Amino acid sequence: MASPDLITPAQIQKTNYHRKRKIVHLICFFIFMALPFSNVMRFDIPKQRFYFFGVELWINEFGIIFFAMMFLMFVIVVSSVIYGRIYCSYACPQMIFSEASLEIEKWISKKVTKHFITWPAARRKLVARVAWLAVLGVASVFLAFIFISYFVEPRDLLARLMRLDVQTAGGISGAVVTLITFLDFTLVRQTFCTTVCPYGYLQGILGDANTLLVTYRDEKHECIECKKCVRVCEMGIDIRKSPYQIECIHCGDCIDACGDVLSRLGKETLIHYTWGETGKAVVDETKWYRKLGIRDAKRVVVLLVTLFYLSGLTVALSMREKIMIQLQPVRTTMFRVGENGMIHNRFRVRLVNRGSQATAVTFQAEGLPGANVALTPNPVPLQPGEMVEREFDVSAKRFAGAPAVNHFRIVAVPSGGEKPESFDETFLMPEGK
Ligand code: SF4
Ligand code: SF4
Repeated sequence: MASPDLITPAQIQKTNYHRKRKIVHLICFFIFMALPFSNVMRFDIPKQRFYFFGVELWINEFGIIFFAMMFLMFVIVVSSVIYGRIYCSYACPQMIFSEASLEIEKWISKKVTKHFITWPAARRKLVARVAWLAVLGVASVFLAFIFISYFVEPRDLLARLMRLDVQTAGGISGAVVTLITFLDFTLVRQTFCTTVCPYGYLQGILGDANTLLVTYRDEKHECIECKKCVRVCEMGIDIRKSPYQIECIHCGDCIDACGDVLSRLGKETLIHYTWGETGKAVVDETKWYRKLGIRDAKRVVVLLVTLFYLSGLTVALSMREKIMIQLQPVRTTMFRVGENGMIHNRFRVRLVNRGSQATAVTFQAEGLPGANVALTPNPVPLQPGEMVEREFDVSAKRFAGAPAVNHFRIVAVPSGGEKPESFDETFLMPEGK
């Protein structure tokens, strides 16, 4: 009679986190490529602009950049508090390309062995190595190009690449980043994660007893010591020793491996994703919010803070004005009396077009009888990204009973449906009857 502990292999639900991870890697790779080209997120150093979801932010738009940075930072905090190092295993470019480099190396080696089986092993190894380095060389140029596109306009960068520019700052940084990328993915790979990258250490601070872990539990002594879980681990650790090893990126490959081996014996994997070392396995949770990892007040608070920054960012973006107009009076002389008895007051205006369309701003005076804005040309044309400063006179005739200080408005009307802006100003006149 079958042992009550045994279930048939067909009943075992095997996991395939590795496959899911590879699909996410592919999606992340396309996102990584698309972000700078679509201006979803890019920091243009030469132009000193920050692009965020298609909005071109000027470097002095502190409020929006502050909320954007805080929001992104809290997304990382939320992810680390709830899901541990899931970012490392699923979305980090370093991990994606390190794993891809290892897989390409294995694939080329297999192909060379298959097609040149009659060659001596040393020659096959040399050919496979040269082919792998050649593929990595081309991939490094491409990856470095994408990476630098986050900081330099992609078309400008492509033009530099076509000219093989290694003299200007852009060209030199392109060559240096290509070399670093090549060395990283041929020599360093996952070693970077356990030595240089601060994120693993940060996880030690942010994680707690409810954070997602990969844990090994074997109360019934079912481990057959096959060590497949150790062999598949690209971080080179044995998860059975502890779930808190700093190298563990919570990828789940060892869960798949153990499940694969033990399912043939009619048993389930001994390694699971769990909420904390002593918490339930993720799949055993029943309530949806607990399944998602929202298991205590701390997680609710961190999520609320993230939402707060997201709302702040949304409000700041919605209040953003594409045309910035700053106007002030020039009071080096209070007023000037013209030959024809006209009184002139001087003003200075600074106009900035932070949008992507050309515009023109018309100035007019309101609330002062017979007032005229002496600005040429009026409207003032303004190209995208342009900043202009102008000085101009507002002129008016003295009228009967006019006080020395007259309150009026200068209204600036941008073309293209942008909101007009009104400035309350004073017009000074010589006192008289
Ligand atoms: S121990 Fe398991 S979960 Fe951790 S890195 Fe290795 S294979 Fe991935
Ligand atoms: S794969 Fe499973 S059975 Fe094999 S050594 Fe690891 S824990 Fe034990």
